[in-house]
Amino acid sequence: MAAQTTSVAPASPHVSHTRLSTWLDCPKKYEYSYVLEAEEEGTSVPLVFGSAIHEAVAAFFDSLKNKDPMILDEVHAVFERAFADEVYVAETMGCPMEWGESNFEEAVEKGQKILQCFVEKVDRTLDVMHTEYAFDVKTAEGCVLRGYMDCIIRTSENSYKIIEIKTAAKTYGQDRLLYDLQPTVYIAALREIVPEADKIEFEYWLLMKTKEPDLKILPVVRNAGDLQELRETIRGYLLGVATGAFPRRRGWQCSYCGHATACRTSCEQPQSQQVAG
Ligand code: SF4
Repeated sequence: MAAQTTSVAPASPHVSHTRLSTWLDCPKKYEYSYVLEAEEEGTSVPLVFGSAIHEAVAAFFDSLKNKDPMILDEVHAVFERAFADEVYVAETMGCPMEWGESNFEEAVEKGQKILQCFVEKVDRTLDVMHTEYAFDVKTAEGCVLRGYMDCIIRTSENSYKIIEIKTAAKTYGQDRLLYDLQPTVYIAALREIVPEADKIEFEYWLLMKTKEPDLKILPVVRNAGDLQELRETIRGYLLGVATGAFPRRRGWQCSYCGHATACRTSCEQPQSQQVAG
């Protein structure tokens, strides 16, 4: 399986699981993020934290691929540098970190513990083929599926497993494992890239941000019906984006939306303020 790159911009519209999920969660948020390319109002700490953990884990997987596993101090160093860099960029680019009750030092300490747990528990015999595997795959719908797979391992001569690393405060429920689009998109993409593969599996590796860090491995299964449903979703998405219909989808997600102020103030009339009794 050759590495793919995304250095050439595709002529066809591109679809990623993030774009699809954002559009399904709230078309208005999609418009802010991908059509207007509006800056978010602040930078989410979990997002930056997760991204720095990702970078450290990817470096470790790379070292497994090179048959020279990193020691814990080296993994910590990658995390601390990545986290500090991202915080600096956020703070200096006018998109300040939303620290809430946490702070930089606490976050670093938490990251170190999580990575210690990961390094202790990870299977060092994994046959790592690719890390941060970038793909551009043309679909029958005339668009390009694009994304990055955290890690691809070979499980037998012609079988592969996609590993997606997440940091999470609690484990994923059954609904997410059944319906989350990310595994479906990634499995569909890898099937296009290696159509001769005997088997393609997917696992979420959850690095738990609980008091006692843990590594939970959650296998996700997708079948032909799921892939057909994905194609239908992509067709709907392309139609929705092409027609420029981006209604607001009000709900719990508004509390965590980086465009909430812009979304609310874009209406000329003030909205009601309801307080639950
Ligand atoms: S505040 Fe709510 S409705 Fe508005 S863009 Fe964000 S998620 Fe959508």
